[in-house]
Amino acid sequence: MQITLIGAGFCGSTLAVELLRQGGPDTRVTLVGQPETFGRGVAYGAARPEHVLNVRAKDLGADAQAPTGFADTLALGERGRMAFLPRLAYGEYLQSHLQQATESASGFARIEEEAIGVDRVPGGFRVLLANGEDFFSDVVVLTVGALPPQRLAGVGPRLAVDPRYIGWPWQDGAIDRIPPGARLLIVGAGLTMADVAVTLRQRDHRGPITALSRHGFLPQAHLEVPGAPLELPPGVLQALRDHDLRTLVRTLRQLSTVVDDWRRVVDALRPHLQPFWRGLDQAARARFLRHLRSHWEAMRHRVAPAVSKQVQAMQASGQLRVLSGRLLRARLGVHDVEALIRPRGGESTWLGHFDVVIRATGLDTDIERTSHPLVATLRDSGLLGADPLGLGVDADHHLQLRDPFGTPVTGLYCLGPLLRGQLWEITAVPELRTAARTLAARLLSQQARAGRGHATDDAALREAG
Ligand SMILES: Cc1cc2nc3c(=O)[nH]c(=O)nc-3n(C[C@H](O)[C@H](O)[C@H](O)COP(=O)(O)OP(=O)(O)OC[C@H]3O[C@@H](n4cnc5c(N)ncnc54)[C@H](O)[C@@H]3O)c2cc1C
Repeated sequence: MQITLIGAGFCGSTLAVELLRQGGPDTRVTLVGQPETFGRGVAYGAARPEHVLNVRAKDLGADAQAPTGFADTLALGERGRMAFLPRLAYGEYLQSHLQQATESASGFARIEEEAIGVDRVPGGFRVLLANGEDFFSDVVVLTVGALPPQRLAGVGPRLAVDPRYIGWPWQDGAIDRIPPGARLLIVGAGLTMADVAVTLRQRDHRGPITALSRHGFLPQAHLEVPGAPLELPPGVLQALRDHDLRTLVRTLRQLSTVVDDWRRVVDALRPHLQPFWRGLDQAARARFLRHLRSHWEAMRHRVAPAVSKQVQAMQASGQLRVLSGRLLRARLGVHDVEALIRPRGGESTWLGHFDVVIRATGLDTDIERTSHPLVATLRDSGLLGADPLGLGVDADHHLQLRDPFGTPVTGLYCLGPLLRGQLWEITAVPELRTAARTLAARLLSQQARAGRGHATDDAALREAG
């Protein structure tokens, strides 16, 4: 059985390694990826030296069975294991992890090309590449990461194609071209804003910076020394088992009044969230997104203490101000960019003048609006349905995609942040590596059942949890 993974970032490379380890070196795995970030992906391939990981080194092993693998590979001491290392170092680790697992694997092939289409054909799929070549595969897994950022709502068509609008800050050295005195509007106040702020500080940017987000929450920081793991009380566990969002929030409020640090509560909840989310109906998921998402994301996606200190210093000096509100419109004026903003909770609007607008609103998972060539083609050809809340693809419990009518497309899978609709907590290394291991076991057990492959059976699935 030929298994093709499209996208050679964290998920593609980790899944390839899992398939070869669980299935043996002659398992037929093809990894298709963009040459620039092959084996690293966007987060660790397009990073700058000043960008650090937001997880401690000791927890970032690519292998679900060896979570300390990253720190072990670098032979870090106790201090290094607790540190937040540069993302570029993690990219190098991922590449060598893939290299080691694949160099003597006879079944493995790497293709450094963009995949632009996947057609269903009898018994499987035909994968089309940007160079005009194509090949057959029994199984295809989309490991394409998040979608390219869409234009911000309200950004006018002339501004959208002008250098004064930066849709993706790390593309083509966009940040490097910003004049040091420029007045900046950053839309979004989360992790990407923190990255942009750190880079601007490195570059001695002098101009004023306004960060705008719905609630104006800045990402919270990790503690220098993390608190001890917390055991959740029975009331919280029961609410999680019952998929009862209202009771969960109430019991968590009570809990947070007696626990010394809220981070311990967030960390204790995390392993329970995939099954909890799966059991919520669409109305409860929509309620969560409307009322709780911003709060959750600010607490859950924390930055390294040093990053937080830099952002706070910029705030304290008055260079960075954080506004809560909505961007209603941004367009090119006579001399600069005019941005019409509605502050949160008010009816009045405010017209701000800026030199550059930067989009920093986080992961894009909206399948219906995407311009990602492959995903848009799959959507338009009816092979891929969208999550109704815009959280990526529609998939079943086994991560197999469903078409727009809700029917599973046999043999077409997804792994990565586009599964947010199915799993919610599926964007960071700890959840992704576990999902990669489970999916590899599933694919190999299917192969065994088909009677054509290696002696892998459901025991592998059970072992993978
Ligand atoms: C800036 C940033 C920082 C992050 N920092 C952390 C962190 O510190 N800790 C943490 O746990 N998580 C972090 N994350 C979360 C991160 O998303 C995951 O850790 C992980 O990298 C996601 O892996 P992925 O494979 O799904 O996506 P990616 O790693 O982005 O890989 C997808 C790859 O697919 C390629 N691709 C897309 N379409 C095609 C196509 N048609 N043909 C061929 N190739 C294609 C892309 O070019 C890309 O290389 C960060 C995310 C971002 C964006």
